Amino acid sequence: MAAKGDMVLAWTTNADLQKKAECGGAVTALLKYALENKIVDAVLTVQRGVDLYDAQPVLITNPEDLNNTAGSLHCGTLLLSKLIKKYLDGASDMKLGVTVKGCDMMGIYELAKRKQINLDNVTMIGVNCGGSVSPALARTMIREKYEVDPNDVKKEEIDKGQFIIETEEGHKGIAMDILEDEGFGRRTNCRRCKLKVPRQADLACGNWGVIGDKAGKATFVEVCSQKGADLLTRAEQAGAIATEPAPAKGIEIRGKIEGAMLKLGDKWRAKDFTELGQGQTRLEKIMKATARCIKCYSCIEACPICYCVDCSTKNPALVTPGEIPPNFMFHLIRYAHISDSCVNCGQCEELCPAEIPNALFMHAQQVELEDLFGHKPGVDMTLPILALVEERAERDRLAKTGSDMIYLNCFNK
Ligand code: FAD
Ligand code: SF4
Ligand code: SF4
Ligand code: SF4
Ligand code: SF4
Repeated sequence: MAAKGDMVLAWTTNADLQKKAECGGAVTALLKYALENKIVDAVLTVQRGVDLYDAQPVLITNPEDLNNTAGSLHCGTLLLSKLIKKYLDGASDMKLGVTVKGCDMMGIYELAKRKQINLDNVTMIGVNCGGSVSPALARTMIREKYEVDPNDVKKEEIDKGQFIIETEEGHKGIAMDILEDEGFGRRTNCRRCKLKVPRQADLACGNWGVIGDKAGKATFVEVCSQKGADLLTRAEQAGAIATEPAPAKGIEIRGKIEGAMLKLGDKWRAKDFTELGQGQTRLEKIMKATARCIKCYSCIEACPICYCVDCSTKNPALVTPGEIPPNFMFHLIRYAHISDSCVNCGQCEELCPAEIPNALFMHAQQVELEDLFGHKPGVDMTLPILALVEERAERDRLAKTGSDMIYLNCFNK
């Protein structure tokens, strides 16, 4: 019987799945078991599209189809949280299994506390995440730094601090810090990310700490909730997975790697935020960069915190229609509404056609608000700072000024 807090090595008992999977296939086997046994009605996960740079979200109801989703796509920079809200009615009346990186999980929590996702219906299988690489940049990086045609790459992986590619000719790896010093490597938000082991999911799975003859053949699973413990126990009893206790040395190594990754996150935060400057310098930088905005709304569409039916950026009293670039109020609205809850998922930057470092701007503000108010977004159901606004008092105050513009306070309804 597994229990919350347990740490085990786990792998699938299905030989075909073992071959396709990243590190033993426990994640896919657990999801498959959950679907076969109606613990979930569907699984939302990620599968390879036309090539390994093309990670696609997929909703699966036939357990056999899950075999196609095994394996890690490190150029998969997509975010699953908002899809649950947008296309699956927030899992309001379906039980859903989801594979989540830290940012996917944080987005789910932020939407859940806004009553946009029913967390009770979601089983989160977390994957540790050292970072992901933008698909377009990965292609350039492989061509320029590896001197390989990106179309010839059969598999990519991130291991022992290297980005490694596999072609017909063999393997080639380059240290991530070398790549990053030259502007390649992980997305900049990933470098600053400090959610490496998603312990707020039901299970947290990864390869850190899998040593000896199990290296590459098993996944290190940390049991993070009763729901996770039940799933692991039932899947093992049914013979879908096999497990053994995580070795003490593996636990120690995993802890050290996680610690080193957190320090690296601090280093990148210090660098990025220092370069961004403070006060007027920062404001000028943000205004200069956002002057490239073409008001395509991609940042809003992709942001897990943005779900409002009537977005204030479309209010003509605030943002003049038909004006490109939009006035700065367009961006100020987002900073005001989101910065307390930004989970640094990077979507608003990744998808910006004007290449505006939106995630950096928002994340810098989020970290300062966290320092001031102690609110850490995305890790539990604690309400954001904005929820503390007294809506009635604020409406009265605004009415006296002749305006009734206010961000709808949905938290207290
Ligand atoms: P499998 O059975 O192969 O299942 C993998 C699951 O991950 C599938 O459900 C698949 O759909 C899903 N998936 C694949 N790509 C993505 C994606 N981009 N976003 C969301 N879901 C995805 N582990 C560590 O210990 N250290 C790391 O630094 C680390 N970095 C990772 C970075 C990324 C981008 C990803 C996706 C995973 C990372 N992992 C890391 C986890 C590790 O690679 C394995 O996913 C984990 O050990 C489970 O292995 P498995 O064989 O049980 O998974
Ligand atoms: Fe992974 Fe964090 Fe980047 Fe998300 S933001 S892909 S969890 S490193
Ligand atoms: Fe402007 Fe970029 Fe947002 Fe589009 S994604 S609205 S260009 S900031
Ligand atoms: Fe993600 Fe950008 Fe929204 Fe922050 S503001 S949560 S980085 S999309
Ligand atoms: Fe996002 Fe604010 Fe628009 Fe809502 S009103 S969608 S929080 S920018």
